Amino acid sequence: MRQLILVRYGEIYLKGLNRPYFMRALVSRVKQAVRPFGGRVWLHDARIFISDMNDMDGCMQAVSKVFGVHSLCPAVEMEKGDFNAICDQAVRMMQGLRGSFKVEARRADKRYPMTSPEINMQMGGYILERCPDLHVDIHTPEHVMNVEIRDMAYLYVRVLEAVGGMPVGTGGKATLLLSGGIDSPVAGYCIAKRGVEISAVHFHSYPYTSERAKEKVISLARQLSAYCCGVKLYIVPFTEPQLQIHEKCPEEYGTLVMRRFMMRIAAKIAQQEGAKALITGESLGQVASQTLDALCCTDAVAGMPVFRPLIGNDKIEIIHIAEKIGTYETSCLPYEDCCTVFTPRHPCTRPKLEHVERAEGALDIDALVDAAVAGTEMIQL
Ligand code: ATP
Ligand code: MG
Repeated sequence: MRQLILVRYGEIYLKGLNRPYFMRALVSRVKQAVRPFGGRVWLHDARIFISDMNDMDGCMQAVSKVFGVHSLCPAVEMEKGDFNAICDQAVRMMQGLRGSFKVEARRADKRYPMTSPEINMQMGGYILERCPDLHVDIHTPEHVMNVEIRDMAYLYVRVLEAVGGMPVGTGGKATLLLSGGIDSPVAGYCIAKRGVEISAVHFHSYPYTSERAKEKVISLARQLSAYCCGVKLYIVPFTEPQLQIHEKCPEEYGTLVMRRFMMRIAAKIAQQEGAKALITGESLGQVASQTLDALCCTDAVAGMPVFRPLIGNDKIEIIHIAEKIGTYETSCLPYEDCCTVFTPRHPCTRPKLEHVERAEGALDIDALVDAAVAGTEMIQL
């Protein structure tokens, strides 16, 4: 008999012929998460198992952040020959619980001499006799004693929900424009959850934005990396484009011209990285640069798809996700962002592309973009 963790996956189950590809990716991501806890990970009978970890709860927490994992169950594995021994173990696991319960058996080994309903009945009765604080409710039980009969018997009661989604790396690569705000880390999380490997680009306008603003973004990228199996963070020197925009462009187009620079630079870095899309935390109508007309103007220079997973979300909804994934507190630290340094008093909310292009006319766009890309610093998190 031994303690292990049973890892259940969700959507991958729906895959057809390429399911083995997704499973291999998932196992490798789970292994990566388990490594600090010294455990062993293996795939057997369409299940992922983890054993021999030195910290069960820490290991469960780490694996619950692996995209592709649907839930985790601390389980006991034992020989299936002696049904009474299995029932005794079930009683040990239910002891101390109160309220309603049921037994849910699954018999993958069809040669096993009892059917699933028979196991449910007999084990249910056995537990009932020995646990006076429990009663049976087969429709809405508070506790479920799960029994899986495979090559061995597996018993578990506790189920920890995990993040779901698809294993990182199975969906290609994309580059996140990561500010220090609330929205962009959430946007990165949402796309990584669909299996996409993420790199991040941050625009830094030293000395108008401080070292501490940069440190904050590094912390956010580190928090994201717990879900994304590592993140490369590119820090782009953005002071020169901003100063020139401020000096040479009509004020009402300043923000939009700046956002177009961000897109061009991020797209260039994305291409060098082999990433095929950009990701931003924009949400329709949130600020002047996020109206439909403004988004059309920024997309015009991206040259690749721009994913905006939060486009239809309210700020409150975004904050809920940020709290859940643990980035909210860091995002709320009060350091300035380069977007807020030269904010125009009356930004244009219904820009026309040709007007924005004209507003950029006095700038040497290619030279500014190339210099910014050349001055970029990379940090592996
Ligand atoms: P966030 O909360 O992510 O900062 P926001 O509501 O502050 O979003 P904006 O400042 O208009 O919105 O930025 C919109 C998007 O542009 C951000 O979600 C992010 O993807 C990108 N962005 C803004 N500032 C930066 C920056 N300094 N570096 C990289 N990307 C940025
Ligand atoms: Mg911002």
